[in-house]
Amino acid sequence: MRARVLSGIQPSGQLHLGNYLGALKNWAEIQGQYESIFCIVDLHAVTVYQDPAELRAKIRETAALFIASGIDPAQSSIVVQSDVPAHAELAWLLTCVTPVGWLQRMTQFKAKAEKQETVGDGLLQYPVLMAADILLYNASIVPVGEDQSQHLELARDIAQRFNSLYGETFVMPATHLPAVGSRIMGLDDPDAKMSKSATGSGHAIGLLDPLDQVRKKIMRATTDSQPAVNFDGLGSGVQNLLNIFQAFSGWPGEKLREHFNGMRYGDLKKQVAEMVAASLEPLQERFHDIMAEPGYLDRVLREGAERVSPIAKSTVQLVKERMGLYSGA
Ligand code: ATP
Ligand code: MG
Repeated sequence: MRARVLSGIQPSGQLHLGNYLGALKNWAEIQGQYESIFCIVDLHAVTVYQDPAELRAKIRETAALFIASGIDPAQSSIVVQSDVPAHAELAWLLTCVTPVGWLQRMTQFKAKAEKQETVGDGLLQYPVLMAADILLYNASIVPVGEDQSQHLELARDIAQRFNSLYGETFVMPATHLPAVGSRIMGLDDPDAKMSKSATGSGHAIGLLDPLDQVRKKIMRATTDSQPAVNFDGLGSGVQNLLNIFQAFSGWPGEKLREHFNGMRYGDLKKQVAEMVAASLEPLQERFHDIMAEPGYLDRVLREGAERVSPIAKSTVQLVKERMGLYSGA
């Protein structure tokens, strides 16, 4: 039996370069070696308010972007999280074994809670739901961006605590980061992670941004007061642009250094802009083709849910039995 991979993206806004380089590109590369499940995690998205009509549209858009990024629905299951009720069911069961102090320490909780007037309990429970997503399928590999490392550590802690209370049940999931691009920074602020939920038109490159806008955003990216690339002292903005170029080109570090060291920032930006635009163009074409094909997405999502539901159900059944809950005659 092949090892299982699970990961997800929230349909909480416009997917961006960080989501692509930190997650989607890596998923597409490894999907053939594993039994892969990729989720549109809509239950995570509603941990902060989402406009219902927009959310409905974003769920489909996100699914189409998975496929446009190279996730092959014939090889991998593409699933909307709320379509498989076992995610929420297991999350509750795991909530009951998770100390609240573990959750209050999470960096993402603190950062997102700060921005809310009223902090929904879901925002605190977020990492438990994420642990449920993974443990539901006994996934042993979870390919994510660097910002999710802390939540994955917590998922392992929750799994371990459950196993020690109720007996060996869950596999320990390993974190799988991409070699380059695990943390893409905001173009307007290279000290902040590029995020869907951040505002500011110069912050993120959307995967569906018109290409002339993509180029403009990169040309306006924040750098530093130096005139040219100096590999002996790279500022965070320049480092971010080089990371983006390297992640798309696959160039080894020495080649990158040889090519860009001493180059003026304006020229560096032009080359990064061309690399990104050339990479996004075919992705956008595929996206539009997918959206234009009637019934296709619904079929993919239905098949994905059908494929994974029996695994999810049997895990919940086992967990209920282990905990002594009523699990039928
Ligand atoms: P939000 O602001 O709503 O949390 P997000 O941009 O952080 O959105 P998520 O849906 O939370 O996106 O994350 C989806 C995947 O993309 C995760 O694996 C996450 O680690 C990865 N990811 C998110 N932002 C970046 C980034 N800036 N660089 C690399 N990977 C990222
Ligand atoms: Mg996030």
